Amino acid sequence: NGFAVLGLIEPLLASVASLGFTSPTPVQAEAVPAALAGGDWMVSAQTGSGKTAAFLLPVLQRLLDAPVVEEARISTPRAIVLCPTRELAQQVAEDAINLMRGVVISLKNAGKNDPYKMAARGLRIASVVGGVPYGKQIFDLRGAQLVIATPGRLLDLQDRGQIRLDAVQCLVVDEADRMLDLGFADDLAAIHDHTSARESTQMFSATFAPRIMALAARVMREPQRLAL
Ligand code: AMP
Repeated sequence: NGFAVLGLIEPLLASVASLGFTSPTPVQAEAVPAALAGGDWMVSAQTGSGKTAAFLLPVLQRLLDAPVVEEARISTPRAIVLCPTRELAQQVAEDAINLMRGVVISLKNAGKNDPYKMAARGLRIASVVGGVPYGKQIFDLRGAQLVIATPGRLLDLQDRGQIRLDAVQCLVVDEADRMLDLGFADDLAAIHDHTSARESTQMFSATFAPRIMALAARVMREPQRLAL
């Protein structure tokens, strides 16, 4: 399996194999090892390049490698993926759930105290998007460690006291160029401020146009660039 050299743990290698991915796309080959190393990254990648798995795999690996028991009353996610639209957020959440399904299946025969098996059990994923009722969304959020969100609704739920962002270790911004087009720059800056203790940030964009780099400078320290 061509993914084996990227530094991914065995359950995630098994999961990508079960999805039929035999070798990483160029953006995956570059961005996965970079994200696993930590720090801030600015990545140029088009839709269809495999960018979703490129940012989800390292995020899932961090969560599986260092499990914590979530306190259920208020959501304190450890990873956030921000998407510009509801449709994209739901697609990314679906991809994350599919990757985790592959992880769980690959661990079926592992002992019940296997650390990845225990971590995978506790790894809940929720999406937080506008235009849907609050009640179910807030219920689904409880105990979620990975939250895939549109910026406005995420800040809204924080203002309502339903989510705390101070435990976030990694932040991914997908389609940063569309985020700007849709007027989310200030929301991104606010989310950046609320997650200032995080260890890594990845921003994906179709281009490195100056306005994108200006946004990157607002929400990252010294991003390294990966141009694909
Ligand atoms: P994305 O650019 O993330 O929207 O991915 C585009 C499509 O490529 C999705 O349907 C993925 O399931 C698929 N895909 C992602 N990575 C790989 C891979 N390494 N090998 C084959 N297909 C992939």
